[in-house]
Amino acid sequence: MKKLVCGILVLCMMLSLAACGSGKSGSENGSKDGSGSAADGIDYMALVNKLNALPDGWEEKIETVHMTNSVGDDVEVEKKAYDAYLGLKKDLEQEGVYVDLDSARRSVAAQQDIMDRFIEKYGAEYAAKTVAKPGYSEHHTGLALDLYLNVDGQDVYYNEDMVKYPEIWAKIHAKLADHGFILRYLKDKEHITGYGYEPWHIRYLDDTKTAEEIMSKGITLEEYLGTVGIYDVKIDYGTSELYTQEELEAAVIRIKCEFAAWEGCELHSIRYAGDEADTEENLKWLNDAAGGEQAYIQCAEFLMDYHSPKEASGAWNPDYEYTDWQFWLARTEDGGWDIVTSGNG
Ligand SMILES: [Zn+2]
Repeated sequence: MKKLVCGILVLCMMLSLAACGSGKSGSENGSKDGSGSAADGIDYMALVNKLNALPDGWEEKIETVHMTNSVGDDVEVEKKAYDAYLGLKKDLEQEGVYVDLDSARRSVAAQQDIMDRFIEKYGAEYAAKTVAKPGYSEHHTGLALDLYLNVDGQDVYYNEDMVKYPEIWAKIHAKLADHGFILRYLKDKEHITGYGYEPWHIRYLDDTKTAEEIMSKGITLEEYLGTVGIYDVKIDYGTSELYTQEELEAAVIRIKCEFAAWEGCELHSIRYAGDEADTEENLKWLNDAAGGEQAYIQCAEFLMDYHSPKEASGAWNPDYEYTDWQFWLARTEDGGWDIVTSGNG
């Protein structure tokens, strides 16, 4: 048996403490301080990004309104976010800045349609790179709004044209927090948000004080909520006859989510250790480790390299490069991955 001989067993069994929730049930992000109350139905502070899915039940709870923009498109927006947008728009008009709504809410089903069309046209690999995975786009929330500009009476609609007006965006960004919005995809934060700079993509938080704090600090929603996304990581899926690429990706997402809670650690790489880890013996070991509550039918091992924080924190050797750190994941019949244990063997 490939047992973990760990000096430091950081993670214990059946972890679900990270921001991402388990692969099965989607995310469970609450608000940090109780603001954006869930009493209205949705959590206005919910984090939806490439690692965090739209919270369960969102599409049933959300209340939306429809508007028609200057080019005749129907745009669906969450109700309170739309009211706040109208306030922002009016405020900006006082300064001679004119904006309109390009798009706001997209349902998970609509995103799936887009994905399917891209796969058909360009192939799965290109689609995966270009289109947000259904369930993982902030536009599902109805709280993310893409603006476009009207400059000297002309609509400026395309991204490549909109970026030519930094001084106009600066005026818009300066007003966002007053209306409960933040700028979501900041410059030089792609490694955290997973997206490059988008001056037009704003996010409603239903809380001007929180929005003000986030905007004045120049941080991302991920940083504010303390869950830093990790995108800049070398992933080696190796080859597998047991698991599809999608299944391995789901496992890696679980690991990344878990790792996001390792404060101050920097993740460098994750490698699939190979099909040979899926033995009867290891499966029994992981089932035993889970206390017999889960009936795991498959397992997988991943190896991770990461750097510990410079300051000693008790959990790790300070400022140390850990290599081949083992993550053991197992699956029940329904296919979701659980991280059962991890450590340096
Ligand atoms: Zn957007």
